[in-house]
Amino acid sequence: MLHNLSTLCVSIWYMLISAYTVLQTDCPIPNFDLFDDEEWSVMPDGTSSSCSPAQHGDDTEITSVNVFTKAFAKHGKVWFARSIWSQCRATQKGRQFTNDMWRDEVLKGLKTFNGFCSFSFRRHSVTLCQGKKIRSLTVFRCEGYCKFSTCDVTFNCQVTRDLRLLVKFKGEIHHLLSEKSSRYITGAERESLKTTLKNKLPRLHYLEKLSELDAETRQSGCRDSCPSKAVLKKIRYESRKIKTPHDNVWLSLEKIKEEQCKCSLENATLQVIMLDPPGAIFYSKRSMEILHAVCKRDILYIDATGGVILGQERCYAYELVIRHPIQGNPPFAAATLISWSHNIPSISHFINTVWNAQRKLFPARSFPPLVMCDGSMALINAIIISLFKESLRSYLLRCWEIVTGKRNTSFVHEPFLHLCASHFMKNAKRLVRKT
Ligand SMILES: [Zn+2]
Repeated sequence: MLHNLSTLCVSIWYMLISAYTVLQTDCPIPNFDLFDDEEWSVMPDGTSSSCSPAQHGDDTEITSVNVFTKAFAKHGKVWFARSIWSQCRATQKGRQFTNDMWRDEVLKGLKTFNGFCSFSFRRHSVTLCQGKKIRSLTVFRCEGYCKFSTCDVTFNCQVTRDLRLLVKFKGEIHHLLSEKSSRYITGAERESLKTTLKNKLPRLHYLEKLSELDAETRQSGCRDSCPSKAVLKKIRYESRKIKTPHDNVWLSLEKIKEEQCKCSLENATLQVIMLDPPGAIFYSKRSMEILHAVCKRDILYIDATGGVILGQERCYAYELVIRHPIQGNPPFAAATLISWSHNIPSISHFINTVWNAQRKLFPARSFPPLVMCDGSMALINAIIISLFKESLRSYLLRCWEIVTGKRNTSFVHEPFLHLCASHFMKNAKRLVRKT
């Protein structure tokens, strides 16, 4: 009995402590009762706020050299766009909207009164009734806070039956000058940015948006309209992400190859999928025709780059490049190898595969009079072995005989390898610096 009594006392004590802790939290629970209409002022046309940030021109009070503060209207009303409301209602599930369009609309209203805080939402709620069945004055409610660590601004918004967005703030703007914050970009704004960043550098877009910020907003640290370069890079990556038929890269490649074969062999570009070393070879029938025609009289360039995918396991892209048959056009890549290995067997396999494909289409031999590559020993060896059909030693001996005049037979029709002058000078510079 005594034991039960002591347990009960301890439980009551914990309940009291918990209740006290809740009361002491910095996060006030907003009252969702409709705001007193006396508090709200509205512009004559009903579309503008009762007080815009611009009206507080010289109210900025810097209480400390490290802090930004600003007076602003604590309440106001604007219209909630009827078209957005209808679209949000169409996605309603229970008391929640499932799309983010309402966020953009509410944020637009909040920014009318306070353009210096970066807002985040805690929760929202929509009435279940539709049309004439709506009896309450309020059809939508949401609340949130400013994301700046030192700012205690919170907001509470309500949408009335006639689609007026009532905004009520609590707290004062108090931002550290060293802190920057921006809201999460969602919905239509993210989609719009994806389109913009498809053909625009994130850094350029960032600098443009930064230059558009006024001095006060820049000082406040709010970057809602100017997302960071990292965020822009992520959105650009999303915009460039290609939908694949399968999550597994190899199954995805197989499916792409099957689809290509079903559609048209003429236009198929994915030709070989390699598992070990992992990679893929791309060329088409048309690119082989062009390669065959140009190779008879022009230089063949073979180059590689290791900067295809940064920050992951190194992936190389090799290309057989020729001059475009039509003057004034950029160089033409006749075949491409994507590979995770940079060695003689994998490059030789690539060159042999392409030349075999060419030979199947055109029995007459087509051979470039000159091949050009950088100083990579793997590339040099692979070209000499697979294209010239000789070893590096015998090729160097042939070159030595020609240079010293010891070679009696004609060498005009024999293939030659040139190293790119730019790469050669770069390598020479690096070697000189080393010594
Ligand atoms: Zn704030």
